Amino acid sequence: MPDEQAWREIAIGGTEINPGSTERVNTGAWRSEMPIIDFSRCTHCMICWVDCPDACFEISDTRLAGIDLDHCKGCGICAAVCPTHCITMVPESSVPVKSSESGA
Ligand code: SF4
Ligand code: SF4
Repeated sequence: MPDEQAWREIAIGGTEINPGSTERVNTGAWRSEMPIIDFSRCTHCMICWVDCPDACFEISDTRLAGIDLDHCKGCGICAAVCPTHCITMVPESSVPVKSSESGA
């Protein structure tokens, strides 16, 4: 699928039917709220990693390392399930970082 399509070329309902499309679609651009992790309270239980629908949590040596903000849609599930409440959702406009910076 080319990067730009005429509306007649888009599948009904805007459905993405090509596998692997996440590689080139920056779904983080859809986000209105950003998850911020307070690592001082993180126990690295990985519950957020399990429940994130977009597999955005980055792991390093069995520990939580950050978030792939290029693909995090800001759904807030991670903040809801974190047992230590160390993830806070903040308005995207209030965080002066680029999406490619993870973990914030
Ligand atoms: S759910 Fe919370 S405590 Fe557990 S790894 Fe994720 S951020 Fe850390
Ligand atoms: S806000 Fe949603 S998409 Fe982003 S890291 Fe948390 S669970 Fe994943």
